[in-house]
Amino acid sequence: MFDEDRDFDEEPNVKPSVPLARIRFYEFDCPNCDANNPMNDGFKHDDELVCLYCGLEFKVKTVSENRFKLIPI
Ligand SMILES: [Zn+2]
Repeated sequence: MFDEDRDFDEEPNVKPSVPLARIRFYEFDCPNCDANNPMNDGFKHDDELVCLYCGLEFKVKTVSENRFKLIPI
Protein backbone atom coordinates (compact mmCIF):
# COMPACT_ATOMS: atom_id res chain seq x y z
CA MET A 1 0.00 0.00 0.00
CA PHE A 2 1.35 3.39 -0.97
CA ASP A 3 -1.43 5.39 0.58
CA GLU A 4 0.58 7.41 3.07
CA ASP A 5 -2.14 9.96 3.70
CA ARG A 6 0.35 12.72 3.18
CA ASP A 7 -0.47 16.35 2.65
CA PHE A 8 0.53 17.74 -0.67
CA ASP A 9 1.67 21.31 -0.97
CA GLU A 10 -1.43 22.84 -2.42
CA GLU A 11 -1.36 26.07 -4.34
CA PRO A 12 -2.64 29.08 -2.41
CA ASN A 13 -6.31 29.87 -2.87
CA VAL A 14 -5.65 33.07 -4.73
CA LYS A 15 -3.56 32.21 -7.70
CA PRO A 16 -1.73 34.90 -9.62
CA SER A 17 -1.85 34.62 -13.39
CA VAL A 18 1.92 34.15 -13.47
CA PRO A 19 3.86 31.60 -11.42
CA LEU A 20 5.39 33.36 -8.42
CA ALA A 21 8.87 32.18 -9.31
CA ARG A 22 8.67 33.99 -12.64
CA ILE A 23 7.83 37.39 -11.22
CA ARG A 24 10.90 39.57 -10.93
CA PHE A 25 11.44 42.73 -8.94
CA TYR A 26 14.22 45.21 -9.39
CA GLU A 27 14.45 47.10 -6.13
CA PHE A 28 13.53 46.72 -2.51
CA ASP A 29 13.27 48.87 0.56
CA CYS A 30 15.15 47.33 3.46
CA PRO A 31 12.73 46.50 6.30
CA ASN A 32 15.52 47.15 8.79
CA CYS A 33 17.09 50.44 7.76
CA ASP A 34 14.60 51.61 5.12
CA ALA A 35 17.29 52.04 2.49
CA ASN A 36 16.30 51.65 -1.13
CA ASN A 37 18.32 48.92 -2.80
CA PRO A 38 18.18 48.80 -6.59
CA MET A 39 18.95 45.35 -7.98
CA ASN A 40 20.03 45.53 -11.61
CA ASP A 41 19.81 41.78 -12.11
CA GLY A 42 16.44 41.56 -10.44
CA PHE A 43 15.31 39.05 -7.88
CA LYS A 44 12.42 36.65 -7.43
CA HIS A 45 10.62 34.38 -5.04
CA ASP A 46 12.92 32.54 -2.63
CA ASP A 47 15.99 34.55 -3.58
CA GLU A 48 18.17 35.83 -0.79
CA LEU A 49 18.98 39.54 -0.68
CA VAL A 50 21.55 41.50 1.26
CA CYS A 51 20.89 45.10 2.13
CA LEU A 52 23.80 47.11 0.78
CA TYR A 53 23.52 49.55 3.65
CA CYS A 54 23.04 47.59 6.87
CA GLY A 55 24.16 44.18 5.61
CA LEU A 56 21.14 42.23 6.84
CA GLU A 57 19.97 39.31 4.74
CA PHE A 58 16.41 38.65 3.69
CA LYS A 59 14.54 35.99 1.84
CA VAL A 60 12.04 37.03 -0.81
CA LYS A 61 8.48 35.81 -0.46
CA THR A 62 6.44 36.89 -3.42
CA VAL A 63 2.80 37.40 -2.51
CA SER A 64 1.41 38.74 -5.77
CA GLU A 65 2.48 40.09 -9.12
CA ASN A 66 3.56 43.40 -7.65
CA ARG A 67 4.09 42.66 -3.98
CA PHE A 68 6.64 40.72 -2.00
CA LYS A 69 7.70 40.31 1.60
CA LEU A 70 11.21 40.20 2.95
CA ILE A 71 11.80 37.69 5.73
CA PRO A 72 14.97 38.26 7.80
CA ILE A 73 17.27 35.24 7.61
ZN1 LIG B 1 19.20 47.74 5.50
